[in-house]
Amino acid sequence: MHNDIKSTVLTSEQIQETCKRLGQEITKDYDGKNPLCIGILKGSILFMADLIKNIDTHVELEFMDVSSYHGGTESTGEVKILKDLDVSVEGRDLIIIEDILETGTTLNAIVDLLKYRKAKSIEIVTLLDKPMRRKVEIEAKYVGEKIPDEFVVGYGLDYQERYRNLPYIGLLKEEVYTK
Ligand code: 5GP
Ligand code: MG
Ligand code: MG
Repeated sequence: MHNDIKSTVLTSEQIQETCKRLGQEITKDYDGKNPLCIGILKGSILFMADLIKNIDTHVELEFMDVSSYHGGTESTGEVKILKDLDVSVEGRDLIIIEDILETGTTLNAIVDLLKYRKAKSIEIVTLLDKPMRRKVEIEAKYVGEKIPDEFVVGYGLDYQERYRNLPYIGLLKEEVYTK
């Protein structure tokens, strides 16, 4: 385990099991369709890579980068598009792929935008969900794991752009925040 990590929340094996389960559900629900999977950068890239390997139907991939966090561990409630999609979503079945759903501010803004652009359907798949933190009414159809209100890193999730490369999800030692 990395020296800055206090404890593990999800092991690499648990994550793979979760990707398999979610991939099977999505395969069943989107059989015969051609969904556009939209990965929200940068946190979702590891999850997206493992999830789509478990989806057994045609999928197309796109990316969006939005920011709601500004370096720390608390959301500011403000969402800005840093990178937009390269294709039209009109009439498409969309699957938004997120690392973690917390207040819901980020996904709510993205869903509103994609509805405005006339997507046919929009569903969310999130690896992690912190339902206790929700501020706006939004739910993901596909949820990997519900976790308590603690700041996690690893498997795409960062603290000040670090720890995204860890193959598991964990909690940071207190001293890392005070460094
Ligand atoms: P929301 O808009 O739902 O409050 O926040 C969603 C975004 O905040 C996530 O996509 C993620 O980038 C960031 N975030 C929320 N909780 C955590 C957490 O526990 N750890 C990390 N590293 N990022 C988080
Ligand atoms: Mg994210
Ligand atoms: Mg972040």
